[in-house]
Amino acid sequence: MSGRIDIAVIGGGPAGLAAAIAADKAGAKTLLVEREARLGGILKQCIHDGFGLLRFGEKLSGPEYAFKDIEALGQTTVEVKLLTFVTRIEKCEGFFRLTLVGALGIETVETRALILSTGCRERTARQIAIHGTRPAGVITAGAAQYYTNILGQLPCKRCVILGSGDIGLIMARRLTLEGAKVIGVYEAKPTPSGLSRNIAQCLEDFDIPLYTSRTVTRVFGRERLEAVEIASVDEKMRPIPGTTERIACDGLILSVGLIPENELAESLGVPLENPARGPICDQHYETLIDGIFSCGNALQVNDLADYVSESGECAGRYAADFAVCLKNTDEKNISNSGISSKRIFAKLSGGRDFLSLVPQRLNINNIEDDTTIFFRAREERGGTRIRAFAGEKEIFSKTYNQLRPPEMERITLKLKNLRLGEGDVIQFIMEDAPVAQGGEWRVEG
Ligand SMILES: Cc1cc2nc3c(=O)[nH]c(=O)nc-3n(C[C@H](O)[C@H](O)[C@H](O)COP(=O)(O)OP(=O)(O)OC[C@H]3O[C@@H](n4cnc5c(N)ncnc54)[C@H](O)[C@@H]3O)c2cc1C
Repeated sequence: MSGRIDIAVIGGGPAGLAAAIAADKAGAKTLLVEREARLGGILKQCIHDGFGLLRFGEKLSGPEYAFKDIEALGQTTVEVKLLTFVTRIEKCEGFFRLTLVGALGIETVETRALILSTGCRERTARQIAIHGTRPAGVITAGAAQYYTNILGQLPCKRCVILGSGDIGLIMARRLTLEGAKVIGVYEAKPTPSGLSRNIAQCLEDFDIPLYTSRTVTRVFGRERLEAVEIASVDEKMRPIPGTTERIACDGLILSVGLIPENELAESLGVPLENPARGPICDQHYETLIDGIFSCGNALQVNDLADYVSESGECAGRYAADFAVCLKNTDEKNISNSGISSKRIFAKLSGGRDFLSLVPQRLNINNIEDDTTIFFRAREERGGTRIRAFAGEKEIFSKTYNQLRPPEMERITLKLKNLRLGEGDVIQFIMEDAPVAQGGEWRVEG
């Protein structure tokens, strides 16, 4: 690709695919860089169904979902580089310089805007400090999924699953279907971390027990895992002495959380938010550094691929606007500082009850009527009313019968007629509310 391009999309999972397609549609000269041999990201190994209900109105497997976007990408002029790593990005005056390492060697590319869609990675045994030796057989749920679904190799015959995240639940079912014995899923928290539908369809339907307030405290075995030690934990997740039991197994599958991949963003000084550690962004998924956008699991850990694609589409569209505006300025040879699209921020803020709230900023220079907000509750709750205030004025209210941290909620704010100034805050609160009768969801606002 010669000359300066408009947009470089880094990562070819569902977020990057949607972003590249949307950017191309908006007229931007786009490059998509993927380090693996095939596009599709994590979806390639998710051979179960349940993807695409919102976006395509169909129940698809992960590869089928990805294939729809890969086909659509084929109809665009997006250049794709596979087996290529982005190892370095430098911010220069009015553009970014990327260093790419691929089969043909090292090359550099200059781009006006960047979309970071690098996904997330799993926490490993090291990050949760399990005592004991380092035998084979202790692997993450995603790695177990890769062995089973891509390589066709069963990673263990009798296993314990630690953590009740969705990947662990899905692998409990998958390993059972392949003939392995799953002794149980052990969760340190008092409530499960995965979606309710996965608890029902992956554990209950297969008689796989779920033990809460328990954890693995030690592993045994030299070359290969021989057993694990399980203990009950107190409310601070500390093992309770005298409660340990030893379980013989050759596999310990870890499903203990996902971490957004943001090393490239960090190297560029993009401010990240804790604890999710995704970049702080505005409603168009532009980070606090002009021209750097983030989407998908790199921005926040999503529960549905449909939401991942939605964020990619939005980032792609607005990155194209940014890049085309910058290109026009470059071509007219006028100072970049004259660009009228300077962002002015209001803040979106949730209290302690919110585990996450994305976006965290509103660019009040470019507000559409419908603004999408994603949030998760910090703790499991019954009837809850979510309210949002701009100063004294209530601008949103919706009542839920139940909120659970694993389930990401999506709401739409109508903001067009709201007068907001720089630094103004839209404050979200959660308050207890009566549960609707008959199991119906009661929605206001
Ligand atoms: C086991 C499992 C089961 C799931 N089940 C469901 C389900 O039933 N329904 C549902 O809707 N969703 C499900 N999901 C969620 C969904 O798969 C993810 O949310 C989605 O794949 C995230 O998309 P992404 O594009 O953000 O990241 P990814 O799919 O992880 O893609 C990121 C891509 O970026 C590339 N990359 C990273 N860094 C670089 C770099 N420096 N240079 C070049 N390339 C790079 C990676 O190789 C990867 O291809 C599941 C996820 C998992 C793991």
